[in-house]
Parts: sequence; structure tokens; C-alpha cells
Amino acid sequence: MKRALVTGAAGFIPSHLCDFLLDRGYEVIGLDNFVTGRRSNLEAALKRGMKLIEHNIIDPIPESLVTGQIDEIYNMASPASPVDFAKMPLFILETAARGHRHLLDLGRRTGARVLFASTSEVYGDPEVHPQVESYFGNVNSVGVRSCYDEAKRYGEALTVAYTREHRLETRIARIFNTYGSRMRPDDGRIIPNFFMQALQGQPLTVYGEGSQTRSFCYVSDQVEGLYKLMTSSETRPVNIGNPIERTVLKIANEINALCGSRVPLRNLPLPENDPKQRKPDISRAASSIGWVPRVDLETGLRECLSYFREELKRAPGGIVTPTA
Ligand code: UDP
Repeated sequence: MKRALVTGAAGFIPSHLCDFLLDRGYEVIGLDNFVTGRRSNLEAALKRGMKLIEHNIIDPIPESLVTGQIDEIYNMASPASPVDFAKMPLFILETAARGHRHLLDLGRRTGARVLFASTSEVYGDPEVHPQVESYFGNVNSVGVRSCYDEAKRYGEALTVAYTREHRLETRIARIFNTYGSRMRPDDGRIIPNFFMQALQGQPLTVYGEGSQTRSFCYVSDQVEGLYKLMTSSETRPVNIGNPIERTVLKIANEINALCGSRVPLRNLPLPENDPKQRKPDISRAASSIGWVPRVDLETGLRECLSYFREELKRAPGGIVTPTA
């Protein structure tokens, strides 16, 4: 039986990854400090025997905390919503710097392969479209998003430096916009905001003219991509995302129609450095790890609708959607 450690386990994508690994017979250890993660995301995994460690990876990981052989470490820990960037920029930087260093050290001590969850944000506001892994990006190092973008760029640099010096087995996943159940309904990102607004009869907050684009990957596809990368021999960074590109305006209209709400749109100023376009080139993922996404946007959004409806039922006072 393989043993995997998943950090940020109570978060949206990592909690699905824990379920995925349990399905494949892994022994799974989840680690989280519950800054943005939710215990409810782990209910199913805990019932199936997942072990949970409460720890902040910024602090060293004592040997007594994670014992025995580990085969795979998925370092997924980090706040990731633009609303978080304003609230805890230093924490985000430290998570990818000191935090990731501690996971690399743990990988070295236990002989585990370490996957770093990087992001499409390393491309910043891209001038190359679609974004291919060889593109170096266009990031404002002193902008409001820099705490996340530069943290992840540093995390990638740290990963390759560590690999070179210590011959550790590492993987780098560049995760593009992902959506699905277990997203925090109040995390301020486009999919939760538009669903919660539509379901509560409030106007959809479109930033700028809504002409900026994103490409959305359903969470089940995302975790399969992460797993395939981890278990492949590919050591270069790999984009994991769905190349189906939509404008923000189109997403607003699709969610409005799906919810049957027909609420008006409300234009708010476009946040600083908000990327104007984003779409992954996934040729590397397809050819070297044998992965392509399968869930189309309509199917994924329908799944989301049931999830967000349930979330709303559980919040009798309603849900406030933070805006940038
Ligand atoms: N966005 C929007 N209204 C919202 C939230 C987001 O128009 O209430 C836009 C945002 O400007 C961006 C896109 O939706 O262009 C995706 O934003 P999100 O925060 O989900 O993720 P990002 O890709 O920016 O990290």
C-alpha cells in the first residue's frame, strides 16, 4: 500500500485529491492548519480512515509528527483566492517559501516524491496566448497579486534548486482555474460569487467590462491530472487546466440562465493586474502524462448548482459574497 501526505488537505482541490487517493487504495495523511480549509470537506475521507494532522507548514515539521515511510507528498497548502491576497499576503509568501522548504526537507528525510502545487498565476497577465510552459510570464512583482504570483514562482525555483542539490524526485503542477463542490461559497472567486449572488437574487458583480477570459477545469479532472503528473516521469512544470475559454460576461450569463434567476449584472472596477486572458496549452500534459480533461463546462456548472444550493440552505442568514 502506498502512503501519501496531502497538505492543505481541508481545502477545495486537496480534499478531493484525498478522496481520489483513498479510492486508489492509498493510505492518506492529511495536513492542514485550517486557515482557509474546512473540516466538513474531509468528512468522507476521515470516515474512510484518513489520518489528519493539524499543523502550519511554515513551522518546522517535527520528526514525531510524520513518522514512517512516505511515498508521495502533494504540497497543496496555500490560500489561493484573490480576496485572500489582500488579507494575508505575508502568510501566502511564507507558505510557499519556508512552508514548501519544510516539505522538501520531509521528502528528503522520508524518500518521498514531492509535488508542488504551482499556478497559472506564474504567467501573470500573459502576453503569450494560450500559455505554454516555456513562457516565462509577465508578473508585476510589486502589485496586489504579487504575494501569490511571486510566492509560487519562488516555490518553483526552490523545487528545482532543491532537486539539483539533493537529487530529490519532484514534480511541478501549474494549476489553472478549477471549480466544483467544496469551494468556499464566500471565497470571492467568480464561480462561488456568481452562484451565490444568482441564488440570492442579487446582481452579479462583473469586474470591468467582463471581457477578460478564464478557462475552467472541473475538480475531478484536476485531481486526476495531479495524480497522473505525480506518478509520471515528467519532471518539467506541467499545465493542468481545461483549455475551454470563456469571457467573464459569458460565465455570468451561463450561471444566470442555469439558476433561472435572471438577475441584473453590476459592473465594478477591474482589479489591478487582473489577467486579461488565460488559457492553458495542455499539449505537454496530453503527450507526457497522458491527461486531458473530460468534464464539459455545462455538466460541471450543473454539479456546482446543487452544491451551492445546499450551502445556502445551511446558511440561514445568507452568504455575503466578498468583492475585490
Ligand atoms: N470576477 C468578476 N466578479 C467576481 C469575481 C471575479 O468579474 O465577483 C472576475 C475577475 O476579475 C477575473 C475572473 O473573474 O477576471 C476570475 O476571477 P477569480 O477571482 O475567480 O480567479 P483569478 O483567475 O482571478 O485568480
